[in-house]
Amino acid sequence: MTNINQRLQSVKDKISEAETKFGRESGSVSLLAVSKTHPAETIIEAFSSGQRSFGENYLQHAVPKIQELRDYDIEWHFIGPLQSNKTRPVAENFTWVHSVDREKIAQRLSDQKPVEKAPINICIQVNVSDEDNKSGVDFESVEELAQAITNLQGVHLRGLMAIPEITDDIELQRANFRKLREKFEELNGKGFELDTLSMGMSDDLESAVAEGSTMVRVGTAIFGARRAK
Ligand SMILES: *Cc1c(COP(=O)(O)O)cnc(C)c1O
Repeated sequence: MTNINQRLQSVKDKISEAETKFGRESGSVSLLAVSKTHPAETIIEAFSSGQRSFGENYLQHAVPKIQELRDYDIEWHFIGPLQSNKTRPVAENFTWVHSVDREKIAQRLSDQKPVEKAPINICIQVNVSDEDNKSGVDFESVEELAQAITNLQGVHLRGLMAIPEITDDIELQRANFRKLREKFEELNGKGFELDTLSMGMSDDLESAVAEGSTMVRVGTAIFGARRAK
C-alpha cells in the first residue's frame, strides 16, 4: 500500500469509529479529500485508492489540475473564498461550491452554469466563531440567503458549511459545530430540504461527526503538509 492509500484508510477508519462512538449511522459521513497545493499525480494516487470527491480552494491551481484530470470520474468541490469576478471558472469546472456567503455569488454561479450541466450544489458558509476577517455569513442572515438561493434555477442549495476557530478544546469544537447543526435543523423545520452539513477537518473531525457532520473536508491527514503555493 502507498503512503496515501494508508493515510486515506486511516482517515476512513477514524470516521467510522466516530460514527459508531457517537451513534451515527454507518456510512452517513462522507469524505471530501482536500487536495489543494498537491499535484495531479497525488490526486491520481488517492483516486486509485477509491477516493472520488476532491476539494480545492485556489482557483488558479485547481483549474489546470481539473483539466488535466478530465478523464477521471472525479467530483470537484470548490471550498475556498470566492470573489464575484471569479465565478465563471468555478461554475464551469466544479459540481459543488461550499463557500457561498452572499447572494451575488450564488446568482452568478447560477447564471454562468453551462446549460448541459446539472445545477451546482451549494453550501452556505456560516461564520460560526464570529471572528473578524473570516468569511461566512452571520447566523442571523443565513435564512434570508437560503431563501434567495432556493429561488435560483442553476444552483441547488444542499446545506451549510463552517470553518470554526482552531482550538484543542473539544468542548469548544463541539459547541461551534452544534450551532451550525442547530441552524441546519431550524431551516429544515421551516421547509428547506437541506441534506449536507460540511464541517470537520483533519484536527476536529471527531467533534464534527459527533455533532452531525455529513461531510468532512480532510487535507493534511491524507496528503501530509501542504506544499508551498
Ligand atoms: C484546507 C482546508 C481544509 C482541510 O484542512 P486540513 O486541516 O488540512 O484537513 C478543509 N476545509 C477548507 C475550507 C480548507 O481550506
